[in-house]
Amino acid sequence: MDKLSIIVSVYNEEAGIRRFYEVCAEVLSSLSEKYSYEMIFVNDGSSDKSSEILREFSEEDRDHIRVIEFSKNFGHEAAMTAGLDYASGDILIFLDADLQHPPALIPEIARRLSEGADIVNMVRTKNKTAGLVKNVTSGGFYALINRMSDLKLEPNASDFFAIKKPVAEVLRKSYREKVRFLRGYVQNVGFVKETIAFEAPERVAGKSHYSIKKLFRFSIDTILCFSNMPLKLGIYAGLFTALLGIGLIVYTLLTRQGAPSGYATIIIVLCFMFSMLFIITGIIGEYIAILFSELKDRPIYIVKDIYGGGDREAAPQR
Ligand code: UDP
Ligand code: MG
Repeated sequence: MDKLSIIVSVYNEEAGIRRFYEVCAEVLSSLSEKYSYEMIFVNDGSSDKSSEILREFSEEDRDHIRVIEFSKNFGHEAAMTAGLDYASGDILIFLDADLQHPPALIPEIARRLSEGADIVNMVRTKNKTAGLVKNVTSGGFYALINRMSDLKLEPNASDFFAIKKPVAEVLRKSYREKVRFLRGYVQNVGFVKETIAFEAPERVAGKSHYSIKKLFRFSIDTILCFSNMPLKLGIYAGLFTALLGIGLIVYTLLTRQGAPSGYATIIIVLCFMFSMLFIITGIIGEYIAILFSELKDRPIYIVKDIYGGGDREAAPQR
């Protein structure tokens, strides 16, 4: 019998986490004839009552529930990575704790994986809570990254996805980047992929942790990590200014003008040139920042406590 590992990142979800647990546990026990299961809750340094509530779950169902407590907030990507590292199942399903990723779809996902797919990507058809700005910028982000890198990312892909053990093995061992985008790796490791469309409902309780500003930062990092194209902007800018210079030489020679008049023109051109220069320096700076954090090789997350999960030893799989 195949084992399902349900991986849930939790950050200040006290209001909705019990509802999530109930819905998810019901779906999983309805599958108990076909699959055994474990639920891994990664508490990403919540400052509310989430930790206490997770402890209750693990006491209610010690065999199925495992809780991994981080020492502080490391972010959603780190939390998913910890889930990946500690999962022991044959099928790993990543879900948000706010019921925006409907657990009702788990049977369908498990069926697809059992019938031959290695990866199932869940694609949002509609995100009711996200609002126009988030939806438009998210579309723009995917269009941009697909143009700029040779990788292809599914537009509207979400952090709701499922992978089989061999894929999990690859991600555990070979994708240990510090500036991370797990969803991007999942889509670019190859294997047999399928997609299922789903509609993201409203958050069950609480509010989103991702502000537009955070998403912007995240998008920039992701583009830089998946593409070297921005580094080439300097070459293009150099070619452009060289052509401009040659054009001006030819123009000056042909019109035989002496010292050209136009203080404003000089200032404008100067500002334009310097802005290009500074932007390119900034882009190089961003790459150096990423290089630096990879070089320091600090941990992606720090575990403070692990409990539940039956009698299995709590060592990560990697
Ligand atoms: N989350 C997390 N760490 C964080 C922020 C969020 O583990 O620093 C979790 C959060 O509890 C939720 C999931 O990541 O289960 C997605 O977060 P959220 O619903 O706020 O994002 P949105 O759905 O609005 O993109
Ligand atoms: Mg959400």
